[in-house]
Amino acid sequence: MKAAVLRKARMVEIVDVDEPRAAAGSVVVAIERCGIGGPDLVAWRTGELPAPAWFGHEWVGRVVEIGPACPPERFEGERVVGAVPPPCGRCRRCVAGIGSICELGLSIIVGTDRLAADHGAFAERIRVDARRVHRLPEGVDESDGALAEPAAVAAHAVRRAQPSLGDTVVVIGAGTVGLLVAELARLAGASRVAAVDLEPERQELACSLGADAAFTPGRDLGKWLAGQGHGLGADVVFECAGASDALATAVGAVRPGGSVILVGFTPETATISAQQLLHREITVRGSLGYSITDVHRALDLMADERYRVSALYDRLVGFGKLAEEFERLDRRRPARPKVLFQPGA
Ligand SMILES: [Zn+2]
Repeated sequence: MKAAVLRKARMVEIVDVDEPRAAAGSVVVAIERCGIGGPDLVAWRTGELPAPAWFGHEWVGRVVEIGPACPPERFEGERVVGAVPPPCGRCRRCVAGIGSICELGLSIIVGTDRLAADHGAFAERIRVDARRVHRLPEGVDESDGALAEPAAVAAHAVRRAQPSLGDTVVVIGAGTVGLLVAELARLAGASRVAAVDLEPERQELACSLGADAAFTPGRDLGKWLAGQGHGLGADVVFECAGASDALATAVGAVRPGGSVILVGFTPETATISAQQLLHREITVRGSLGYSITDVHRALDLMADERYRVSALYDRLVGFGKLAEEFERLDRRRPARPKVLFQPGA
């Protein structure tokens, strides 16, 4: 069976691997789509992965084999997305009563769990922990389904922020997650939403998905905010760019007493003024990954066609073009942030 693995920085190889077999507690899924995510591109650039299974982790497919001791609701032919299980009930966090950030869920997201395969879902088939697969609702096709994972990340961020009726929201970074956060913030009650991104094409995309305005970093956002509501700044700012200077932009855009939600990932150290946070009573909150609740909320909203994800992709690649696609994504951010892999394409 074929799988694409990251050998080292900037080197994707298509290799023959043993056909996966479902061990106890696991299922084998035939991959139909796998999104190339921002983290995949970061891994491609650096050669660093938390685990091989992380390379290609936004997938949808069909269950083709069920091992012993699996949840009874799984069946062969079931269309599923890869996500996280319910809280395990056994890890230190679960025992301490904070199962919403269960250690098992976080290890599954990054592919370091006991049942993780030694490749990700840029593959024909993959073996995974049966507890982490969730049925794709009727009416959600496989391409949209491949966005369930980032859709859940966005749902987690918005649920962490709890925007309320009439809020003004700013989203910094119009990548996949940023665009989805902007959409969901509106569904969650925000009245005005602005996106900030370097690329005019991404600004346009944000507006087509419901943002009221979009700006280039450092330009015109302050003027726009001064004209919204009380004029004191955004009630909530989501930092989805994963850039160190974006955090300063976020703190600059939020109103006194407002919240900044950290969603983007940056290994760099960001400098912000503690005095600014304190004097203006700003809440800074981290949002990491997602929980099973976020997955269910995201899938339900997608099934209701209220959470639109199909504008985020327009390219499909197979094994033959996958390595080249990473080169392309490295050269230039595409107009649509998500590229989908399909084994048979
Ligand atoms: Zn746990």
